[in-house]
Amino acid sequence: MAVENHRAVEYERRDHGLMTAFVVDALSDGHGYSVTGECPGCGAHIRQEMTYGLMGTKGPRRRREPRPGPRTMICDCMRTHLERPPEFFDQGCGAQWQVALP
Ligand SMILES: [Zn+2]
Ligand SMILES: [Zn+2]
Repeated sequence: MAVENHRAVEYERRDHGLMTAFVVDALSDGHGYSVTGECPGCGAHIRQEMTYGLMGTKGPRRRREPRPGPRTMICDCMRTHLERPPEFFDQGCGAQWQVALP
């Protein structure tokens, strides 16, 4: 279990822009990337997978190649952040940011 410096900040919808401190690794099955880093809003350790080939499966051409470029991530630290509006389904502090895939 990694030590992390989670901060119980109040929920705030905020776009932190492009983050370059996140580590992007190719998944072993080659169908996407794992993105690991620290939430710019609350400091939680975040790991999310960006996978491909799951969308547009009804079409004749299924995209299997990860496309380069920025992806938006939303904090899902699963911790309690006060002031989170009940109609929001995010499971974090409200921070979102972009990570550029290679
Ligand atoms: Zn958090
Ligand atoms: Zn967060």
